[in-house]
Amino acid sequence: MSSNCTHDCSSCKSDCASRDKKTSFIKPLHEGATVRKVIAVASGKGGVGKSLVTSLLAARANKLGYRTAILDADITGPSIPKSFGVSERATGEENAIFPVETKEGIQLMSMNCLLEHDEDPVVWRGALIAGAATQFWTDVVWDDVDIMFIDMPPGTGDVPLSVFQSIPISGIVVVTTPQDLVEMIVKKAVNMASMMNVPVLGLVENMSYFECPECKKKHEIFGESKVEGLAKKFGVPAFAKMPIDPNLSRLADSGNIVNADTEPLSSVFKSIEGAKLLEEL
Ligand code: ADP
Repeated sequence: MSSNCTHDCSSCKSDCASRDKKTSFIKPLHEGATVRKVIAVASGKGGVGKSLVTSLLAARANKLGYRTAILDADITGPSIPKSFGVSERATGEENAIFPVETKEGIQLMSMNCLLEHDEDPVVWRGALIAGAATQFWTDVVWDDVDIMFIDMPPGTGDVPLSVFQSIPISGIVVVTTPQDLVEMIVKKAVNMASMMNVPVLGLVENMSYFECPECKKKHEIFGESKVEGLAKKFGVPAFAKMPIDPNLSRLADSGNIVNADTEPLSSVFKSIEGAKLLEEL
């Protein structure tokens, strides 16, 4: 032990016997906030429908009577407020930011709730981006939330990693599309989750098929579905197949995502309902 040991291992590099090996980087919630469960929605890359799936899961939770929140950690591509038709800005006091609420009562915090104009780009480096996402956890007064969904930054790089390290997470839902590299992407996500000691609760294969409105035949536009086999292979307890549905993007674009059919996500949602509360982690 160093002679000037302060017993604060987070600010010390020496590897002595008394070092707390489990030093956690988890940040505390704002003192006025309550959040009972946190579900991270992650993807191997952008554009696969992660934000859409986050919105649908939150809409389902809200309809089932859970007090629901979304922390939009996709700082450079924030699309959550728009899909719920929310354009107002967050308000705050010196040490607190208040989330905005959808008309159904879902609490939201997103970079777009802080920018002057929706179209303003966020041209920041990784550390700032991760810092902003973490502040949505530490500085926002989340009001009595049963389930919070985090729309994670895409990928498995430093930004999602810092968010995973800073916020306590009950479980992860991984969103993919049915393409060749999907097994590798899922494996990366599952490995990252196990590094963090967090269970993967479900795999969502988005854009899994297109159902012809006339003949009702299902066409697998992006290739054969792999999600069931992957869920088995990696021991993930639930999976879902979401169709390519122009109605979904229309509802998201017009701010009416709460009216979408969330039934395809029912088994993944059941898995979320069974996930541990933060106090049990
Ligand atoms: P990500 O968060 O992974 O970057 P988004 O959720 O923003 O992706 O989706 C990208 C675009 O694709 C959005 O315009 C969204 O409305 C659309 N989209 C996503 N999933 C579907 C789907 N299953 N059917 C139709 N459009 C979809």
